[in-house]
Amino acid sequence: MSDAAAIGDGILQIPVPITDSPLGHTLVYAMESPGGLVLVDAGWDDDNAWAGLTSGLEAVGHSITDVEGVVLTHFHPDHTGLCGRVRAASGAWVAMHEADHAEFHKMTAPRGPEWLDRQRANMIAAGAPNADIAAWQELDLQPPTGPDSAPDRILRDGDTIDLTGRGLRAVFTPGHTPGHVCFHLPDADVMFTGDHVLQKTTPHVGNFVYPLEERDALAEFFDSLRHVQSMNVTRGLGSHGIGIDDVGVRAGELIEHHEERLDHLYEAFADDEITVWEVAERMKWYKPWSDISPFHKTLALSEAAAHLRSLVSRNQVAQIPGSSPALFARI
Ligand SMILES: [Zn+2]
Ligand SMILES: [Zn+2]
Repeated sequence: MSDAAAIGDGILQIPVPITDSPLGHTLVYAMESPGGLVLVDAGWDDDNAWAGLTSGLEAVGHSITDVEGVVLTHFHPDHTGLCGRVRAASGAWVAMHEADHAEFHKMTAPRGPEWLDRQRANMIAAGAPNADIAAWQELDLQPPTGPDSAPDRILRDGDTIDLTGRGLRAVFTPGHTPGHVCFHLPDADVMFTGDHVLQKTTPHVGNFVYPLEERDALAEFFDSLRHVQSMNVTRGLGSHGIGIDDVGVRAGELIEHHEERLDHLYEAFADDEITVWEVAERMKWYKPWSDISPFHKTLALSEAAAHLRSLVSRNQVAQIPGSSPALFARI
């Protein structure tokens, strides 16, 4: 039995399972459009997820062949993975913000020895211990979805997608990814927040190039949270977990959460010179650093790098010239 349901305001919600993920599901949303249905996101790329999406659409009186188009909040595989199968079944177009097109292609590119060498060099630049690099190499490192799910349309901030009798407006909200987009239904006072604002969890925000990327992902995320706050939207529908009662209030809580983490990290530096890896070790996580799995350590490392990047942008911390792997210290 599918838990798909009509949830008011002409919106259908279809939980699509993500195999072996603590998130459980990607919440796919569907609305009627002149050509059939428009989906917000598609779900993870496997047979179980596909069964969840197709049976969910049937449970709410539709078929996968009704899908006219898919608008993507961002490139992550739990959102884009099924786009290839949806397009093959229905001929749907697939639209994503231009800043995430390149990220999608990076994610799905073949991963040969050169890719592995680049990733290893990146971890060495962060100061990762050899044992952790070896543990990372034991993971399943294949791309999580294929190029058949690639978007074929570009979305830009302010674009409006035609729905039946109303429009769905794209709101550029970079941070969680460089090209993240929320979708606003102004007549219903609803925003599809993707992974930008979630009610029960704090979205991941990371910098993935070590020691220090030019992009300040956390600053982008803060700007996008303030932008969403300024829109005064009440009801939020995120991609994971439960609905959001007040988008602005929740966005404010997320800003506060990361400001606290920045303060804590600044304190944790003390008078030491430390690598990006040691920054990650000193941050607070949901369990002790030594108990975190190799995969989740790579996510935590990128999250630590994003917080480090923001402290550098704010002139609270600086890189020690000539250090290798790079060391950072308070100014
Ligand atoms: Zn995501
Ligand atoms: Zn997600």
